[in-house]
Amino acid sequence: MQGKMIIISAPSGAGKSTIIKAILDSGMDIEFSVSACSRPMRNGEQDGVHYHFLSVDDFKRRIVNDEFQEWEEVYKNHFYGTLKSELSRIWDKGKTILIEADVYGGVSMKSQYGAQALSIFIKPPGLAQLKERLINRSTDKQEHIETRLAKAQEEMDLADKFDTIVVNDDLDTAVREAKAVIQSFLSHE
Ligand code: 5GP
Repeated sequence: MQGKMIIISAPSGAGKSTIIKAILDSGMDIEFSVSACSRPMRNGEQDGVHYHFLSVDDFKRRIVNDEFQEWEEVYKNHFYGTLKSELSRIWDKGKTILIEADVYGGVSMKSQYGAQALSIFIKPPGLAQLKERLINRSTDKQEHIETRLAKAQEEMDLADKFDTIVVNDDLDTAVREAKAVIQSFLSHE
């Protein structure tokens, strides 16, 4: 059985995780799709909760086995993807799926699911603020911050391919906007 899907993409550091958490806590019948990834686990992350952490070899084996609905090598040897098993697990419960994906993965999922999916791009107010957020988060080393910023610029150029853009200038406003657009999407057949 298939249902509806919400896709959220953003350059890293745009505040996407906070917005996703607020949506999941808002009482709507939405469940987070736990992606698979091959990057190392960060402090505070749990396998099977934030991601299904896989080795690069295991990830590649699953690509060959056709286990992913979409996947991207977001950074060198850091693969991320949506498992088909995750989609059916959530849809079988009659719930709406919330997918977090990089911009290319988000565009790919929207093109596969069309009107069944709502794609939202979370836009940071500007690259300067984005850099500041990445530095403050300090989970990433300096060179990773530079890589992430370069990627962010590339990703911003694809914002127009999404159904909706939410600018995360003020977090409360961004959360309110995201929830409103989702509620409206879910209220239509
Ligand atoms: P992070 O390492 O910061 O958790 O995520 C890095 C990037 O991978 C983010 O842009 C995030 O949205 C993206 N990402 C997370 N899960 C998936 C997924 O299932 N598919 C794709 N294509 N990207 C993902």
